[in-house]
Amino acid sequence: MVDAGVIRRIYELSHPLNADTIAAPVSRPFELELTHPHAPFDDRTPVSAETILSGTDCMTVGTHTGTHVDAPYHVSRGRSALMPRSMPVPVVARGVLLDFPRHFGVESVDRELTPTDIDSCVASQGTPLRRGDAVLFRTGRDAAYATPDQFMRAPFGGPGVDSAQYLVGLGVSVVGSDTMPFEAVPSEEPLEVHALLLADQQIQIMEMLNLVEIAADGIHEFLFMMAPLRIAQGTGSPVNPLAVVMAPAD
Ligand SMILES: [Zn+2]
Repeated sequence: MVDAGVIRRIYELSHPLNADTIAAPVSRPFELELTHPHAPFDDRTPVSAETILSGTDCMTVGTHTGTHVDAPYHVSRGRSALMPRSMPVPVVARGVLLDFPRHFGVESVDRELTPTDIDSCVASQGTPLRRGDAVLFRTGRDAAYATPDQFMRAPFGGPGVDSAQYLVGLGVSVVGSDTMPFEAVPSEEPLEVHALLLADQQIQIMEMLNLVEIAADGIHEFLFMMAPLRIAQGTGSPVNPLAVVMAPAD
């Protein structure tokens, strides 16, 4: 499907993992320790400019820290409905970026996004949604990532229950946004969008996507790829989703 010769650009849709990585309130922060600092294979060897050195580090990261995907096991309706065997799964699909700040001509959109908003956005972009799409919501919050207080401050723009049902009806493969909670907050039914997508439909949710660059370039349609770590019984995984932009055919 993908000929390496026709790839024009690959966008990485994540924020880096470092000391400034923002964690969801229930997730542990990212830490990295150089547990075996760079040393020669045989540590009796004196180090010269030619000596080959290798180092190894250890990271601690909550599965909902930084850019990540929520697996269905993240949310359930009642304890008996938990799906202990679920783990996050990979997705390769047509990707559509819904760039709401550009569509509305504002810096950021901090309110519930309705099916009417989705329809008007895809119409203005010329990117009708299709079955199997990866649908990425940009609210503009990603531009505030370097300022954690601002990044984490409610209200959060995002889909409400009506839009979640609309996306389910379209048969999307995965959804995501540039905010911490994905769904609009506050709402009358907290976490209902999560329950509807994850628990009822097994549609994974990506959060804290970094869509700044791809939006600035005006790209709304691409080949989307996301491969989570295969964490058995994981409620999620850090991810570095990719948007692959192909060169137009000759
Ligand atoms: Zn999450």
